Amino acid sequence: MYDVIVVGAGPSGLNAALILGRALRRVLLVDSGEPRNARAHAMHGFLSRDGVDPAEFRRIAREDLAKYETVTVRDVAVASVTADEAGASVELADGTTEQAHSVLLTVGRRDRLPEVGGVAEWWGQGVYGCPYCHGFEVRGRKLAVLGAETSAAHLAVQLTRYSSDVVLFTNGTPEFDEEAAAALKVCEVEVRTDAVEQVTGADGHLTGVRVAGETIARDAMFIKTPLDAHGELAEALGCELMDDGSVRIDEHGHTSVDRVYAAGEAARLPNWPSPWIHAVTSAALGAMVALSIDHDLIVADVRSKFGM
Ligand SMILES: Cc1cc2nc3c(=O)[nH]c(=O)nc-3n(C[C@H](O)[C@H](O)[C@H](O)COP(=O)(O)OP(=O)(O)OC[C@H]3O[C@@H](n4cnc5c(N)ncnc54)[C@H](O)[C@@H]3O)c2cc1C
Repeated sequence: MYDVIVVGAGPSGLNAALILGRALRRVLLVDSGEPRNARAHAMHGFLSRDGVDPAEFRRIAREDLAKYETVTVRDVAVASVTADEAGASVELADGTTEQAHSVLLTVGRRDRLPEVGGVAEWWGQGVYGCPYCHGFEVRGRKLAVLGAETSAAHLAVQLTRYSSDVVLFTNGTPEFDEEAAAALKVCEVEVRTDAVEQVTGADGHLTGVRVAGETIARDAMFIKTPLDAHGELAEALGCELMDDGSVRIDEHGHTSVDRVYAAGEAARLPNWPSPWIHAVTSAALGAMVALSIDHDLIVADVRSKFGM
């Protein structure tokens, strides 16, 4: 029997397991091997690890965990979780079942990419979602934004801080509002409404965007992707979910189901406008919720000693 089973070994689950393992909690960390940034070669903005390959980041984090006999890591998907007053039970895809006092869901999210040729191929390696993560490296270069919504126009305006050469490819009729259209004009963003035929690249680099038979040379593309939740486990448990699929948590990481906690990109407080979608914020939330889980376990330990 474990104290805590952590589902998902991205920055959030890894940091939670570290805090709990160091608190002498018996922790099982389980992962299905599909981190959100799997396609990226570099992870930026994480203090002391700026620019590291995300796979290397996870390897180092697991190396840290290996020092703690309190932490067990298993590479297997969690098929289902149940929780009641007696504890939590976690069924793994290899057919085994593990028990714990509590479960922490740090299952992350996944990007829903537009169905435009080349986007999936260059995702994370020339096509990006976040200027804070990848804008600095392409400053001064020829940049593209793909999208017809107001959010795409805002992204294009934001990118003019990094480059004076930003083209917004709407791939059809623009849907952005008047204010966004005005901002694009003021910031001198060129808007192309033709159907996008292909995002092109060669030798590991993005090279352009083909519209109407013409290839417009570009060095990088940014898109605002909808983020789907890995919500299956939380939903089956009966955890309250927000409109965007996030697991609703309180300030301590509790979900609406007793003994079930959530952290990282999978979770958010109702008063947050959206989940925080960076590695360092996910790690921080994982650590915060781990501290809160430990606190709840201390209370439970003391109560059981006094037969309460
Ligand atoms: C292309 C790209 C580039 C990025 N670059 C940066 C960057 O430079 N800097 C930055 O700060 N952020 C970056 N991000 C964002 C960053 O990847 C996320 O913020 C971070 O990974 C979220 O951490 P997490 O622990 O919440 O989720 P994840 O890292 O996605 O980890 C969740 C884990 O849970 C596992 N899981 C899911 N369901 C199950 C299950 N049923 N059983 C077992 N395991 C399960 C998954 O396999 C996965 O390993 C980037 C994202 C993308 C897409």
